[in-house]
Amino acid sequence: MEKRIYLSSPHMSDENYELHYIQDAFNKNWITTAGENVNEFEKELAHSVNVKSAAVVSSGTAAIHLALLAAGVGEGDIVFCQSLTFAATANPILYQRATPVFIDSDAATWNMCPKLLEEAFLRYPNVKAVIVVHLYGLSADIDEITRVCTKYGAVVIEDAAESLGTTYKGQPSGTHGKYGIYSFNGNKIITTSGGGVLISNDEERIEKAKFWSTQSKDPALFYQHSELGFNYRMSNITAGIGRGQLKVLDERVAKKRAIYEWYKRELGELEDIGFMPDNDWNAPNYWLSCITCSGKVRPIDIIEALEAENIESRFIWKPMHLQPFFERYDYFGNGTSDQLFEDGVCLPSDTKMTEADVERVAAIIRRTVISKNEKLKLIS
Ligand SMILES: *Cc1c(COP(=O)(O)O)cnc(C)c1O
Repeated sequence: MEKRIYLSSPHMSDENYELHYIQDAFNKNWITTAGENVNEFEKELAHSVNVKSAAVVSSGTAAIHLALLAAGVGEGDIVFCQSLTFAATANPILYQRATPVFIDSDAATWNMCPKLLEEAFLRYPNVKAVIVVHLYGLSADIDEITRVCTKYGAVVIEDAAESLGTTYKGQPSGTHGKYGIYSFNGNKIITTSGGGVLISNDEERIEKAKFWSTQSKDPALFYQHSELGFNYRMSNITAGIGRGQLKVLDERVAKKRAIYEWYKRELGELEDIGFMPDNDWNAPNYWLSCITCSGKVRPIDIIEALEAENIESRFIWKPMHLQPFFERYDYFGNGTSDQLFEDGVCLPSDTKMTEADVERVAAIIRRTVISKNEKLKLIS
């Protein structure tokens, strides 16, 4: 069996930048949730996406939770949330005892449909916050979404967990709304092993998020708490990994783009295979190269054919409105996310892949598509 090809695995820098910052934390004995790496990672990250401030935390999910808190979302509030996403986008709405209402995607972006969003506001005019996602490194049509949210006075939270390095009209993904979050989970474009960050140009709100993330300790001589607290702060060790990884982000984006272009060259001619949408205002980070199947070949055929050769691939996210846990909540749909779930495959997009690896994956997909169509001819 050839060595496994992964969907997206951690990829540390060749220069060992990460180890340098970890060693520094050991040397100074800052083995805790404070220290130079934590402070510097926040500054360097904020600088790299051109926002005023950042709070690094233990996960992207924690960052979304803090964004909702910062937006003032609490019990009884309604939050609009993109349906086509990972459950981590929606779960924090329930941590706050608020109610999610799910919004379908636009086929032109795969992300939140601004028209459906406006429809949803007509039924629920007093929504406090909207969580829009930039899936697989593609950007939502964030100008339109921001325009609609501003009209109805709702706070925009960008779940840019998968889209660090993406730009929309030249501006980094995650910096268009009031709050943005990135994830540094092991499979994301850069990783700290586990971690996340909340960003905003509102420095006062970010300071408040740091306060909540460190157990809401009042400035007193003893332990005093006037608010509910959380233990969400990032450790100084993992922040060291993040500082090292940030140095290779541009390199990773370039490699992800190359992988996408190789797939397009290898599979672009196949009638039954479609690719993620291209929009000229969008410069994706190509976190995952995704395709859609039409005709006789189904995602499961491709996923099983690849798995038989020790290659990892996945279905597109199953939308929240189809999840047993979330289907009880209201939903504004147009069928796009159902279709993407039915037809979509995330191809291995690991930055350690070579051009030959991509060609091998593509050859298996081509073979699968052709054999499905030949079987069909035999039957008819
Ligand atoms: C990974 C991911 C998250 C959660 O990030 P964690 O760091 O794993 O908590 C949230 N939203 C989306 C869209 C993600 O892909």
